[in-house]
Amino acid sequence: MIPYARQSISEEDIEAVVRVLRSDFLTQGAEGEKFEGAVSGYCGAGHAVAVSSATAALHLACLAMGLSPGDWLWTSPITFVASANCARYCGASVDFVDVDPVSGNISIASLEEKLVKAEREGCLPKVVVPVHLAGFPCDLREMRALADRYGFLILEDASHALGADYLGGKIGNGAYSDATVFSFHAVKMITSGEGGMVMTNRSDWAERIRDLRTHGITKDSSKFTETSHGPWYYQQIELGMHYRLTDMQAALGTSQMQRLPEFLERRRFMADRYDELLGDVPVKTPVRLADRLSSWHLYMIQVDFGGAPFAQKRFYEAMRSEGVGIQLHYIPVHLQPDYARQGFQKGDFPNAEALYSRAVSLPMFFGLREEDQDKVCDKLKAVLQA
Ligand SMILES: *Cc1c(COP(=O)(O)O)cnc(C)c1O
Repeated sequence: MIPYARQSISEEDIEAVVRVLRSDFLTQGAEGEKFEGAVSGYCGAGHAVAVSSATAALHLACLAMGLSPGDWLWTSPITFVASANCARYCGASVDFVDVDPVSGNISIASLEEKLVKAEREGCLPKVVVPVHLAGFPCDLREMRALADRYGFLILEDASHALGADYLGGKIGNGAYSDATVFSFHAVKMITSGEGGMVMTNRSDWAERIRDLRTHGITKDSSKFTETSHGPWYYQQIELGMHYRLTDMQAALGTSQMQRLPEFLERRRFMADRYDELLGDVPVKTPVRLADRLSSWHLYMIQVDFGGAPFAQKRFYEAMRSEGVGIQLHYIPVHLQPDYARQGFQKGDFPNAEALYSRAVSLPMFFGLREEDQDKVCDKLKAVLQA
């Protein structure tokens, strides 16, 4: 089976992890700082804080932004559940903004319409989480203009978008947002096994996130409420979590960062090649815009299944039985039972629901061979014609 995604681990990656295993320190330490420096340097972000997952990163960024009970966080329904769950960890409420039917990213028109209504009703969001679906950057400049006008913070869920370019800068540089989160889960752009990172240009937030990732504990005497008892002393100054990344994971992450340019180049080559191979196939290939460049975490096409019942399921099964592990991204979050209990229902976000019935992610990863890609396209044509 050709999978839809797969990590690439080199001998250098393995050696980097083994070096840590042979050293005196395994938990968060110097390797973590190196990894943070590698990612912040690459993106041009002021600060980076490595944590155990992107989910943890989203949670801590929301806490640093002051998201609390009574507040609202808005995100896209076409995402992994973590983009929304972070609000609820903080006791805040979630709402969604419908997507652009072409890119699958939050639609600026829908966002503006919803903001106008929310302002009238006195329930403007505190935080909006745009998701760069498949690695294709959202309309951040337009979102920034709305954020300045309506007073919300922008937290980018860039779990797919490490290496993507937007208006001449890297996603993660914070040019149009308040913080950005990356994921280093095995199928993402680079991996540390599990892992995530918060990027921000706010030094006060970075410092608070560092404390929060380790139980809310500090050893900085300037923050103590009484004089230090001695060199061993620390204080828990607020309730935090244990969200640290190990040095084994960080070493893998740093090693993978060195390979990111190569990963991006290959994915861009494969995306161009898919566009060509699918030129005469009745599917919609991914959108491109001159002012931004996708990282191509996913290669998502749209297939019109004509509304026939189970056509999409039959297609999925037929492709799998031909050895092509396609994937569907994403089940709209508002349709999850746990979100239905929050009052959401079918029909609430029609573009998101329509996209879910059409979107198909084709295999896309560094080690995908051209002959695999030819096979994917041949099988796709055959199954669509059957
Ligand atoms: C993978 C992913 C996450 C969660 O990442 P973890 O590192 O597994 O916590 C969040 N949002 C999106 C869009 C993702 O794809």
